[in-house]
Amino acid sequence: MIDFELPEQIVAAQQKMRALAQNHMRPIAREYDEREHEKPWDFINLMWHETKKEVAEQLAALEQTDEQRAEARKKSAAQAGGQPMVLGAILREESSWGDAGISLCRPGTGLGGAAINAVATPEQKRRFFGRFTEGSPKWGAMAITEANAGSDTAAITASAVRDGDSWVLNGEKIFVTSGKMAAQESDGWVVVWATIDKSAGRAGIKSFVVEKGTPGMTVTKLEHKLGIRASDTATIVFEDCRIPLDNILGSPEVQKRDTTKGFKGVMATFDATRPGVAASAIGIGRAALEFVKEKLAEKGVAVRYGISPYQMTAVEKEVHGMEANLKAARLLTWRACWMLDRRERNSLEASMAKAKAGLAVTHICQKAVELMGPLGYSREYLLEKWMRDCKINDIFEGTGQINMLIVARNILGFGRDKLK
Ligand SMILES: Cc1cc2nc3c(=O)[nH]c(=O)nc-3n(C[C@H](O)[C@H](O)[C@H](O)COP(=O)(O)OP(=O)(O)OC[C@H]3O[C@@H](n4cnc5c(N)ncnc54)[C@H](O)[C@@H]3O)c2cc1C
Repeated sequence: MIDFELPEQIVAAQQKMRALAQNHMRPIAREYDEREHEKPWDFINLMWHETKKEVAEQLAALEQTDEQRAEARKKSAAQAGGQPMVLGAILREESSWGDAGISLCRPGTGLGGAAINAVATPEQKRRFFGRFTEGSPKWGAMAITEANAGSDTAAITASAVRDGDSWVLNGEKIFVTSGKMAAQESDGWVVVWATIDKSAGRAGIKSFVVEKGTPGMTVTKLEHKLGIRASDTATIVFEDCRIPLDNILGSPEVQKRDTTKGFKGVMATFDATRPGVAASAIGIGRAALEFVKEKLAEKGVAVRYGISPYQMTAVEKEVHGMEANLKAARLLTWRACWMLDRRERNSLEASMAKAKAGLAVTHICQKAVELMGPLGYSREYLLEKWMRDCKINDIFEGTGQINMLIVARNILGFGRDKLK
């Protein structure tokens, strides 16, 4: 039997996040869009409290026996209505409905944390996550992209060379989300992808944790962006940056078939994080759609449902199309998360969700601006901002084209060598 009803625990958490988004994010959305790179500290401090609790629970699980861990997993699954990943997507939709840029400012281990979770040893987790349970807000970041290596990660040129008890990193990483907060402004760290053997291609790429304050790691630039301007996006240069030997994540061996928790393991983190980006897109799209319907209602135009397409006005047809797109993206996203909750492989579904949601939200926001005319163009309302904010969901963590490529590869059963 298929049941689309959300468990009551998820609905309660959704309502809590909706209230937070409504009361703490929306009211400051314009301000932090205009004060690009400045931080919404009230929101950050509020969320830091939650982050500390979550990370502490994660670390406590490391000290438990298998039985205790299974019991704790059951308990936390019950708190999330049995579906923690679905809950995560729902909360991300709500917070991005509040404001996608501010949502990304949330302190925590971030995308780098997902990579550590996927491949780090328990000792590394204690070392890198421990600081996230105390003190002032901290950030983690993930630095993959370079000037000539974004979609094509095999082209990474940043290098890591073993020298005695250290790895020495050299290279430049661009567009690092929360890079400044992680590398410079808090006691955080950056997970950096670098090659230890360029001739080995992807197999030579490893990830390394570089802690804040490590000599040789410098934030050289903050991007001025189209959207999500509250979130800092940094360029970080590594110049003879020396880190301890055991700051490598996964095996230091170069294996042509990477069956270990190395590069493949880190790539697999995207299966868990891409639905989150899709959920963020859905939150922005929902905000734009609600705005359109609200403004139409003020003009006495109510969108009708259950009538024949021949009877619909042009505006109604547009709104129905936008809603259908949003709902399709949401269902794909929830499915990708649901599969993870069932510990099923979801690479295909995660990419489907992200590709669909990225396209849907850009279409919805553009249409919304078009339908609203000057109201969609004016800074008096947030619609023009949502149109700017939404596009990022079709760019980071795999562009729309790259996710469609992954979908095609999965469906057709082709490897990356056959379908490029
Ligand atoms: C605000 C922001 C935050 C970011 N945060 C991070 C971060 O935290 N960490 C990080 O490492 N990176 C981050 N990025 C970088 C982002 O992940 C990359 O920009 C993205 O992966 C695309 O890579 P690229 O810029 O090299 O573009 P390219 O790969 O050069 O792509 C350019 C265009 O070509 C298309 N294309 C490329 N290859 C193919 C192909 N094989 N088939 C069809 N089309 C193709 C792409 O879809 C795109 O349309 C961020 C970017 C932005 C804008």
